[in-house]
Amino acid sequence: MTEVSVTKDAAPAADPLVVLENVNKHFGALHVLQDIDLTIARGEVVVVIGPSGSGKSTLCRTINRLETVDSGTIRIDGRPLPAEGRELARLRADVGMVFQSFNLFAHKTVLENVVLGQVKVRRADKKAAEQKARALLERVGVGNQADKYPAQLSGGQQQRVAIARALAMDPKVMLFDEPTSALDPEMINEVLEVMQQLARDGMTMVCVTHEMGFARSAANRVLFMADGRIVEQASPEEFFTNPKSDRAKDFLSKIL
Ligand code: ADP
Ligand code: MG
Repeated sequence: MTEVSVTKDAAPAADPLVVLENVNKHFGALHVLQDIDLTIARGEVVVVIGPSGSGKSTLCRTINRLETVDSGTIRIDGRPLPAEGRELARLRADVGMVFQSFNLFAHKTVLENVVLGQVKVRRADKKAAEQKARALLERVGVGNQADKYPAQLSGGQQQRVAIARALAMDPKVMLFDEPTSALDPEMINEVLEVMQQLARDGMTMVCVTHEMGFARSAANRVLFMADGRIVEQASPEEFFTNPKSDRAKDFLSKIL
């Protein structure tokens, strides 16, 4: 088996925003992230793919410190991840995260969901926060759902609210961890379209997804992970037409 491990970026990052250096993490005996070196440039869209259990979610979760690392460093916009407290809350706001399960506050309205963090973490004025929330809900196509509760919305609508909620914090980077995996097929595109638009608007994005159409059209770079390592990385054209490692070839043969 040939494994091509590329630790340098396909294209050098002109303006690095997210930098991981020699990051390692274990869950007990499991070495879930192994010597991860990764630089994501401002405005870059990176799609992460790989088999289940390869460490994709853990990678995302370490970037906004939902998980700690055992060794190595992670910097966002030049600053190491803070350990705790208000600094950590701000970091989390700088790094927007959208999960497979939408994770909205069930007992708050859609509008309140998008207002809350702005007021609590960014110390925004309530009125201004509401105005911004309405504009963002409009932007993701759920402007008319503002006064409903999450359970009254479809999965696709809830996920778009989750994206609006993250955007309300003016994040520097957005992480998406399989944002369409829990959706009924007819709702996948409405979420991908919002993500496409974000990418076109220049948002820095890390997207774990098996939506290869999205990867082809939106990604600047595809990372292929297996067994806690970045096994291969390339432009989508290059990766999909000419995967180099056996692991990637095998994976693509199963999903394409
Ligand atoms: P992926 O997102 O690529 O499917 P994950 O990052 O979720 O992979 O998980 C990578 C490996 O780490 C898996 O074997 C998983 O079972 C394990 N794992 C993930 N989270 C935990 C945890 N909190 N405790 C123990 N093991 C975990
Ligand atoms: Mg996962």
